Amino acid sequence: MNPYRLPRAVAPSRYDIRLEPDLTTSTFTGVETVTVTVSEPVTDVWLNAVELTITAATIESDRGDQQPGTATAEPENERYRLTFPAPLTPGTWRLRLAFTGTLNDKLRGFYRSTYKDPAGVPRVLAATQFEATDARRAFPCWDEPDFKAVFASTLVIDPALTAVSNTSIVSERVENAKKVVAFADTIKMSTYLVAYVVGELDATAPVMVGRTPLRVWCVPGKKRLAAFGQEIGAASLEFFENYYGVPYPGDKLDLLAIPDFAAGAMENLGAITFRETALLVDEAEATHAELERVADVVAHENAHMWFGDLVTMSWWNGIWLNEAFATFMEMLAVDAWKPQWRRWTSFGVSRAAAFVVDGLHSTRPIEFPVNAPREADAMFDVLTYEKGASVLRMLEQFLGNEIFREGVRDYLRTHRLDNADTGDLWSALERASRQPIPDVMNGWIFNPGYPLVSVRREGDDLVLSQQPFKYLASQPSGSPQLWKIPVQLRVDANGKRDDRRVLLEQAEQRVKVPAGFTAALVNAGGHGFYRARYAPDLLEALVGRLNTLEPIERFNLVNDGWAAVMAGLMPLREYLGLTARLREERDRNVWSAILGSFAALNRVIAPAERPRLEALVRDRLAPAVTALGWTPRPGEDELTRQLRGDLVRALGTLGNDPATQARAAELYAAHEAKTAEVDANVLPALIAILAYVGDEPRYREFLERFRRATTPQEEQRYLYALAGFRQPALIDETLARTINGEIRTQDAPFVNRAMLMSVYSREQAWRFVKMNWDVMDGLYPKHGTRRMAEGVIGLATPELERDVNDFFTSRKIDLGGKTLSQYLEQLRIAVALGEREGRALPVSA
Ligand SMILES: [Zn+2]
Repeated sequence: MNPYRLPRAVAPSRYDIRLEPDLTTSTFTGVETVTVTVSEPVTDVWLNAVELTITAATIESDRGDQQPGTATAEPENERYRLTFPAPLTPGTWRLRLAFTGTLNDKLRGFYRSTYKDPAGVPRVLAATQFEATDARRAFPCWDEPDFKAVFASTLVIDPALTAVSNTSIVSERVENAKKVVAFADTIKMSTYLVAYVVGELDATAPVMVGRTPLRVWCVPGKKRLAAFGQEIGAASLEFFENYYGVPYPGDKLDLLAIPDFAAGAMENLGAITFRETALLVDEAEATHAELERVADVVAHENAHMWFGDLVTMSWWNGIWLNEAFATFMEMLAVDAWKPQWRRWTSFGVSRAAAFVVDGLHSTRPIEFPVNAPREADAMFDVLTYEKGASVLRMLEQFLGNEIFREGVRDYLRTHRLDNADTGDLWSALERASRQPIPDVMNGWIFNPGYPLVSVRREGDDLVLSQQPFKYLASQPSGSPQLWKIPVQLRVDANGKRDDRRVLLEQAEQRVKVPAGFTAALVNAGGHGFYRARYAPDLLEALVGRLNTLEPIERFNLVNDGWAAVMAGLMPLREYLGLTARLREERDRNVWSAILGSFAALNRVIAPAERPRLEALVRDRLAPAVTALGWTPRPGEDELTRQLRGDLVRALGTLGNDPATQARAAELYAAHEAKTAEVDANVLPALIAILAYVGDEPRYREFLERFRRATTPQEEQRYLYALAGFRQPALIDETLARTINGEIRTQDAPFVNRAMLMSVYSREQAWRFVKMNWDVMDGLYPKHGTRRMAEGVIGLATPELERDVNDFFTSRKIDLGGKTLSQYLEQLRIAVALGEREGRALPVSA
């Protein structure tokens, strides 16, 4: 018997659950009746429960015979065995359980979250987070996604509090001085989607989307930050009902901001929970990036109401069916809502993040075997979300939007209220498109990695070839993997552009070029999940016509170029030459690729080279900052405003530009004195620069601002500013705050990660992390240490690398799945780059 899977002989169809949480003692009691179908005679019933005590168990047949059961815990496998005196015969039974548990502070299962009310008084609320396998911490259940059932929940609470769950309230009464709140039956769904939130909660008035009331909930005092989230909530819900052609499957939709929340958000049907930064925002005071984050996350979770909630993957190996689709649909919805945000261009940044991990030897296929809960948790990574979504986008563009949507609708109609796997999706898309989908797609889903498409000219032919892209060379082993690559090829000839599609299936294929050929672009439109590499003459031709390329195409050119440098396929000198041609660039995403590469370079160079890198950054950025100025022009778009903020920040920190730093101090002082207006997109840059050059009084000032922040975004800005000070004593102070309770455990691992990634704090941060690893592991939510450990990629010196490897080996630390080996390989790549290029930068200072 697989210790992580339950036997199938007994399956639930309905849970009647009554939970009574006590926020003062941080405990809860529960009783439930689970209607189960027994398909073969058994004396044992197995179900999941952990950190719960089952205090009573009985089972009753359809005919009313009752048997008492004995409950035996098997905590190592997170389950209970219920043993009954006589065999249970096939048929329907009702299992009654009573149990007790603790409201924990690990942000999973049924947990407590704390906050201060507007008067500064500490308050507690209780919330749940069940995905992937933590429903079993709140009530005993068959906690696997294909044991779908109907849930009828009742919460018994303090009369002063409010309770929210997946469905509408059907009755509310007072009983023994308690408020008893009963919720309507859910649709048939998986355990990981059940949700309960209990506390002093404020809600907006509902907006109606068709027949669905949609509200935003938050702790008291924050309702003024709910309008933007509610707006995108309504817009995306309407978009999805139209796109999917299937009505929203719930009876209401509540979006709830929870002060302590481990992930970004969770798609509980009808009761979506969020960390505050992902839902609450002051539209007038926020940057473009902060607003985009709220829009993305809200749209993403709404997309899940169908993809994930109505149709669910059969097991965690297929989690990409949920997450890749929700990510893809989030883009479609936000793009439809705000086309001026050009969301598919900024999606290039997400795709680039997937390229990084998927170019490792330690990558994994999108769909990958999963057994233990820890392995399920490790699946929530860039390969599932960003690579998955990129591959779907490539397929959508290959099939055409309409046909793709037809296939999606067919899939949802066919599998609604049920489970499905990748093959089911391919079948639906195949019916819609009459194309051999598995033949094209399986290589992208079931194999790791992605191809590098190289192009060169031979006479009248363009020669396209493919090979797996890897950052680190390896021994060639047998015949290399081949993908079926829908290459979108743009050929310029005689002043005309011709876009054509080539399905590159062989290691090498030839394409005739027309007379008058001048240039060729591989991956035109930028949707493909592959990198391109050009022969020198073809690259030169492209660079000579950068202004004819779309922003996403320029982004890919830069991003692929930098990857080639990291892989040792392009000299750094050549790449830096390319960035010199982009001084006139005004697209924020292209700049983010350039700035990202400079920041990475900063981490691998010898300290003596730093002034030369700073001079290079100033050389590349200063013309754009001068041209943009420090204040928005009338009629300027949001993306340009955000670009200004990004460039100013980089010039003042990475470029260490004294004039920018002085101007930042002046402007910030004027802003504080209310004598000048600073654009919302520039203000966070000023804060980051002032931390970078900041002394102790500034640190005290920012610490106070962090504590008194009035929006989640403001709190984050000052929090990360605390991580940006460079004086050793101040670095130590911030580090201490990551474990002393001053910084929420939802944020502390990310603060540590930022400090590991900074060349000024990384050594101190690494010593601190090593010394306090066990404390952190006990304190942070389950993803915490894994997320924090990603910061070791920044420890890019040979000495630190050795120490990192020693630490993880000697401590036998497992971060789940391939996570740790991916971090260590990325560190190896960075150190190798430093050894190759970081000792003498090919630039003059
Ligand atoms: Zn999701």
